Amino acid sequence: MYIADILIFMSILTVENLSKSYGRIQALKNVNFSVPEGAVFGILGPNGSGKTTLLGTIMDILKPTSGTYKLFDEDPTEMHRRKIGTLLETPNFYHYLSGVKNLEIAAEIKQHGKEDINEVLEKVDLTKRKNSKFNTYSLGMKQRLAIASCLLGNPEVLVFDEPTNGLDPVGIAEIRDLMKNLYKEGKTIIMASHLLDEVEKVCTHVAILRKGELITSGNVNEILSNEDMVEVGAKDNEKLMQVLQNMPGKSRVANEGGMIKVFYPVGFANLESINNFCFANGIILNHLILKKKSLEARFFELTNN
Ligand code: ADP
Ligand code: MG
Repeated sequence: MYIADILIFMSILTVENLSKSYGRIQALKNVNFSVPEGAVFGILGPNGSGKTTLLGTIMDILKPTSGTYKLFDEDPTEMHRRKIGTLLETPNFYHYLSGVKNLEIAAEIKQHGKEDINEVLEKVDLTKRKNSKFNTYSLGMKQRLAIASCLLGNPEVLVFDEPTNGLDPVGIAEIRDLMKNLYKEGKTIIMASHLLDEVEKVCTHVAILRKGELITSGNVNEILSNEDMVEVGAKDNEKLMQVLQNMPGKSRVANEGGMIKVFYPVGFANLESINNFCFANGIILNHLILKKKSLEARFFELTNN
């Protein structure tokens, strides 16, 4: 038995046919995707594509018009949501109180996590400034304090809506580093962003939304990378795999979950030559599709129409 056969990965969030309308405006249209445990999952889309609506729905701030979702593979309850730290809008901190005092109040409201205030301040690199008043903080520090507040109680999952919005490049870099550290700790992060570049830099997975519709979702390397990918299939996939190993021109071949994928540098995938090569080697393909597009093509798709 292969290791892969016995590992069962939990899905942190599964969205099933989710739709949300605000009167006539359909903000989400039949959206489906799944967030694996340990992922940094980016919800990418231009302004107005439904990202905030989606996050608000899974955190029970908004009711879906139709469809369902699961948290930790179960029907969602408050117990599940307590395992999720959220930053959906700018929190109301007291301007005349210190960072540490603000966190004490936040811990009181959430009824957990007072004992880890020093630890979360350290994680967001605010230990040195913890006794300074909130209104003396830079925008980046304010945002890091907001993230510190999410980390109280050590939640397994973090949900951030546009966490770098409005920050200067240094502030952005600090938040991105912080997210990478949280990922290394094994947290699952779900974050909305309208920046392709940000998703490429910090996310392992992505769901791309446009006008409420899911364009695609999956592994960032597959979806946003500069490779082309061709899905192939035949009656005997094992033999097909062996034949493809010897096919010139490709960068690599992979069998991912029973689906054989051939990767090429962008622009070099040629369906006809794959078909010819397989046929010459005694294989009749029953599946041959160019799946992946370049980063530019994805971006074009995302920002046009
Ligand atoms: P994003 O976060 O991707 O910018 P939103 O989820 O905020 O997108 O918005 C999706 C769509 O729903 C937009 O067309 C927006 O104008 C609309 N919308 C969002 N909130 C409301 C609301 N409370 N009432 C009416 N329309 C809304
Ligand atoms: Mg938004």
